[in-house]
Amino acid sequence: MLEQDTPAARAGDNAERLAVVARYEILDAPRDGTFDRVAQMAAAIFGTPIATVTIVDADRVWFAACEGLDGVTQVGTEPGLCASAVLQDDLYVVNDAAIDPRTLEHPLVRGELGLRFYAAAPIVTSDGYRLGTVNVIDQAPREVTPEQTELLAQLAGLVMDHLELRLSAIHAVRAERELKHAEEERSQRRAELIAQLREAADAGFSRERPTTCQLGGRNRACGRPAEVKVADGWGDSAWGCLQHAENLLLEVSGVFLADEALSGLAGYLER
Ligand SMILES: [Zn+2]
Repeated sequence: MLEQDTPAARAGDNAERLAVVARYEILDAPRDGTFDRVAQMAAAIFGTPIATVTIVDADRVWFAACEGLDGVTQVGTEPGLCASAVLQDDLYVVNDAAIDPRTLEHPLVRGELGLRFYAAAPIVTSDGYRLGTVNVIDQAPREVTPEQTELLAQLAGLVMDHLELRLSAIHAVRAERELKHAEEERSQRRAELIAQLREAADAGFSRERPTTCQLGGRNRACGRPAEVKVADGWGDSAWGCLQHAENLLLEVSGVFLADEALSGLAGYLER
């Protein structure tokens, strides 16, 4: 236990904690009203003018809800209040901040707000990370009852439940969006493939029937238009002008006029 309490170990723990905070994507998120209701309930339970739901970031305490403190969206991480409360598992209570050594120097205590009473329950993930607090604040010293602290802990549990539901919804929306994107990419690829096949087929058809005679011989291009297809018993075929085709048919045994649809041997067998 001792070696875990070094500043390095604490900094490492906090880095891990901050990674978990980031996982919930709540910092600076627009408010949906749920945490405001939690803060209102906390204030009602303790009878304090102020209650907040906070998430403790690296260098600020961000207010997810803030009852009784208009216009405040975040404060610093000076030790003594939320930044300290988030470091312990149990409820954190300061009955009179003006005489409590943990909070004497805190700006919310020394400053205009004149904070005197502070009680906070940590918002804890199922795997044990403390994200922030549900807390109540007063400008006068206060005592707390076990019933109040129990309810505060339950409110922190409600906040955690809502954060989990919210995260599930975020993931669901994101998964649906990715699925839709993947589907769009697939149909895009399909369209491209069909276009390629069509192009290849068009090229194939034009290859099938050349514009000029293929029977003139290697060094003597004929140049006349290709009119008929001739084939031999080996399955070889070519397109030729009428004159060259006629010559072949008369002079070379086994050469025949091939059907345009049945090339080579298939055409031969069809005869
Ligand atoms: Zn020819």
